[in-house]
Amino acid sequence: MTTPDDVERMVLNTAPKRSWRRRIRSLTTKQAIWTLSVALSLSALAGMVELVVNARNLRADVQTQIDRSIALVEGTAAEAAFQLNPELAERVVNGLFATGIWRHVELKDDFGRSMAKQSRTDQAFRGPLLNRLFADIKQRDQILLYQISRQGDQERVGTLSMTLALDVVAREFIANTRLIFAVGAVKALAISLLLVWVFSWLITQPLLRVYDALQQVNPKHPGQWPKPELLHHENDELGRLVDGLDDVLQAFQKGLDQRDQLRHISTVDGLTGIANRRQFDAVFAKEWTLAKANGQPLAIIFMDIDQFKPYNDHYGHIEGDDCLRQVAAALANAMVRQSDFVARYGGEEFVCVLSNTSLTEALSVAERIQNTIAELKIPHIQADEQAFITLSMGVAARVPGPHDSTAEALLGEADEQLYRAKSQGRNRICSAESKDSHR
Ligand code: GH3
Ligand code: MG
Ligand code: MG
Repeated sequence: MTTPDDVERMVLNTAPKRSWRRRIRSLTTKQAIWTLSVALSLSALAGMVELVVNARNLRADVQTQIDRSIALVEGTAAEAAFQLNPELAERVVNGLFATGIWRHVELKDDFGRSMAKQSRTDQAFRGPLLNRLFADIKQRDQILLYQISRQGDQERVGTLSMTLALDVVAREFIANTRLIFAVGAVKALAISLLLVWVFSWLITQPLLRVYDALQQVNPKHPGQWPKPELLHHENDELGRLVDGLDDVLQAFQKGLDQRDQLRHISTVDGLTGIANRRQFDAVFAKEWTLAKANGQPLAIIFMDIDQFKPYNDHYGHIEGDDCLRQVAAALANAMVRQSDFVARYGGEEFVCVLSNTSLTEALSVAERIQNTIAELKIPHIQADEQAFITLSMGVAARVPGPHDSTAEALLGEADEQLYRAKSQGRNRICSAESKDSHR
C-alpha cells in the first residue's frame, strides 16, 4: 500500500535532475548537426545532377563553337590547300588558333604535307573526367573539299587538323562546378538555420519552459507549480504533456493533503486543537532521548482541572467542552519558548514538556499557567474555594541518568505530585522539593 510518505518521496523523485537539463540544452545542437548534414548531402546530390546537365550543355556549346569556327574558315582553308598557298594557310591557321579553344591547329595538303601549324607547348590537360566527356570531339580532322571545275564535283584538297584545348573548357567547367556547390552549400546552410530556428521555437523552447516550471515545483506543494502557458500549443502534444504533468502533480498534492489530514487527525486533539496523547508520547520520548544525550534537565508539568465533574454536572457537557477549549488555548498561549510543548493528556488533564528546564524554571512556568487560568475567570460555582476554574499541578524535572532513570519514572513523579496537589486541597502546584504546596 502506498503511504503518504511514499507519495512525498515520489514527488521528490520527480524533481528533474541536472543531467537532464544538459541533454535538453543540446537538443538544438543535435538538431542543427542533423539538419545541416542532411541538407548538405541533399545539396551535394542535387549539385551532381546539375553538374551532369551542366557538362552536357557545355559539351553542346563547345560543339557549336567548333562547328561555327570551322564553317567560317573552311572555304579559305580549302582554297589555300588547293592553291598550295602557304601565306593563306598561315592566315587560316593563325585565325583559328587565335580563338583560343585549340591546342593544336594544322593545315595539310592532299598529300598530308603540313602547310601551316600552330601549337601550344605547355602540357596537355590531364583531367580524366573532361578527357572522357570530350573524347569524341577532342580531336577534329576536317577534310577540305574544293570545287575545281564549274561542272565537276568537289574534290578533296587537304585536311584541317585541330586538337581542342581542354584546359580552357575545364576552366569554365571548374568555375561552374564551384558556383553550383557554393550556392548549394549556402542554400543548405540557410535552410538548416531556418529549420533549427523553427524547431527551437516550436519544440525546444517550450520544452525548456516546462522544464524550468518543473524545477520550481515545491515538493511540499506540488499542486501549486507554475504551470506554463504554452501559446499555440494548447491542442498539440506539448499542451497535452503540460496537462498530463499538471494532472500528476495535482494527484500528488491530493495525496499529500490526505496525508496531512491523517497526520493532523492522528496527532491533534479534536476538541481542543492542541496536541493529543499520541503526539505527547512521541514528543516526550524524543525529548527524553535528547536530554539524555545532552545531559540537560527535562521538566514535566501534569495538570488537572479541579472539580470538573461538578462543573459538567452543573453547566452541562457543552459548557464543559467549551471550558476545556478555553483552558487548552490558555495553556498553548502560556508556552512562550519554541520548544515548550503542551498536550491534552486525556479528559480534563493536560501535560507540558519543557526541554532543558530545571525544576525551579518549571515551577515558574507552572505559576505563569496558574495565573493565566486565573485570569480567564471561568465561573465555577461548584468549586471548593474559588468561584472560578482552577488547575492542580504536579511538577517534576531531572537530568536523565545513564542507567537508572526512565521517562516513565519522571512522568510518574509528576503524576504523584499532582495527586499530592489534589490531596492538599487543589488549585496548587506541587513538586518533590516543595514541602508545602504552592498557591
Ligand atoms: P478533581 O478535582 O479531583 O480532579 O475532580 P474532578 O471532578 O475534576 O475529577 P474526575 O476525574 O472525577 O472528573 C473528570 C471529569 O471530566 C469527568 C468527565 O465528566 C469530565 N470530562 C472528561 N473529558 C471530558 C470532555 O471531553 N468533555 C467534557 N465536557 N467533560 C469531560
Ligand atoms: Mg481527572
Ligand atoms: Mg479533575
